[in-house]
Amino acid sequence: MSDSQEHRQRLSRRAFLVTSASACGALAVWSFRAPRMVAAAGGTPGMVTIVQFNASGKSTGKVVKSDAEWRKQLSAISYQVARQAGTERPYTGDSLNVHERGLFRCVCCDTALFSSDTKFDSGTGWPSFWQPIARENVVEITDRSLGMERTAVSCKQCDAHLGHVFDDGPRPTGLRYCMNSAAMRFVKLA
Ligand SMILES: [Zn+2]
Repeated sequence: MSDSQEHRQRLSRRAFLVTSASACGALAVWSFRAPRMVAAAGGTPGMVTIVQFNASGKSTGKVVKSDAEWRKQLSAISYQVARQAGTERPYTGDSLNVHERGLFRCVCCDTALFSSDTKFDSGTGWPSFWQPIARENVVEITDRSLGMERTAVSCKQCDAHLGHVFDDGPRPTGLRYCMNSAAMRFVKLA
């Protein structure tokens, strides 16, 4: 897709953006400073590539496991957040105070999701980032649960729920990816 095509798609998708109160942080100063990729439930047309950052090469398919398998693999809180779209209590996650350099990977399938280079202290109690490590690695969909309209972020590879993204983040993107520690594991850079 060319830059101009992508730009047009982004603009059309902005119609999906709706401001709302945020359960994930109180920095609700709403503005649309940066274009966003937001798609209605059902997929993100034109975005099908996963960018892998591990040593095993590119994966060609999604990671699909049964509910029982996820329960066995994950801790109770990780299962609740990642597989049941839960939210951990603020200031309880391991990743919040990680300040070392490294990658935040999906707790379910190990896909690289965020880099410490884009982490910032949002003051919300949840680990926050101003962009994903690769836009192809996450999916953003409109989330109308809890009587609010928000943009939920999930792992492209395994559909794990990660958190939500808001428009009140710092430069250069103006975005705040409000993530759950329980949905990720931190891997320090060697
Ligand atoms: Zn995943």
